[in-house]
Amino acid sequence: MNRLDNKVCLVTGAASGLGKRIAEVYAANGGKVVVADLQLEAAEAVAAAIRESGRDAFAVAMDVSDEVQVVDGVAKAIARYGRIDVLVSNAGIQIINAVTDLSFADWKKMLAIHLDGAFLTTRECMRDMQARGQGGAIIYMGSVHSHLASKLKAPYVTAKHGLLGLCRAVAKEGGAHGIRANVICPGFVRTPLVERQIPEQAKELGISEDDVVKNVMLKDTVDGEFTTVDDVANVALTLAAFESNALTGQSLVVSHGWYMQ
Ligand code: NAD
Repeated sequence: MNRLDNKVCLVTGAASGLGKRIAEVYAANGGKVVVADLQLEAAEAVAAAIRESGRDAFAVAMDVSDEVQVVDGVAKAIARYGRIDVLVSNAGIQIINAVTDLSFADWKKMLAIHLDGAFLTTRECMRDMQARGQGGAIIYMGSVHSHLASKLKAPYVTAKHGLLGLCRAVAKEGGAHGIRANVICPGFVRTPLVERQIPEQAKELGISEDDVVKNVMLKDTVDGEFTTVDDVANVALTLAAFESNALTGQSLVVSHGWYMQ
């Protein structure tokens, strides 16, 4: 049996990296997937590839930090599939800079995409879940940086810590409605977001790219290995398919042992 049979799953930032793989794995497990992203063309390509594999998906344009676009995008998803059962609030960016060099605009951009985006998509999807009374799953893409800090990532660390608070509050409010909320906290995964920051960190820290990988990114893992998109997508599948409130309000660190709770 497909674990997500008939569940409608909206994944933000699904045109690339972790979101893309989660969309593919959800579809392969019987979910109907709404591929939401700022980049509509890339989102449409992901949805088309899923349809070519015989599964069900469609793309919507959505800047998660824009209230009107989130309201419209969720409404389109509900018009197409009738409901939302699973939200993966995954869209995100990275900005590498020291606090003393950081512009206020970059600070606000980071918080808008990660926190405003998580709030707006949660509100719209949770309203539908509550109105239908059949429960639901809300999954936030946190990070090991939801639990600890690194140099040059102050706004990211702040935003990812903030998601833990939002998740816990949503888990409390959702409990009576069977709506679960959890945070996945990946270690480093070689997506475009991470590929970009290897040279950026090397420059800012004055070390080689190899040193960034070995001595910054993977230093505290148990085996010096990157986490993969499949690792994270499999955890996202478990959280989406889980059937009771026993697993809610939690964060799951998926990181080869970097930061043990
Ligand atoms: P990625 O750059 O491959 O993909 C991010 C996607 O988000 C892109 O398709 C982009 O277009 C989309 N996006 C960006 N801003 C958006 C907006 N305002 N509205 C809608 N979509 C938007 O990055 P990724 O590594 O797959 O990151 C996905 C999430 O995982 C992020 O929240 C990131 O912080 C988190 N994360 C990544 C890693 C990692 O090592 N790659 C580790 C921990 C957490």
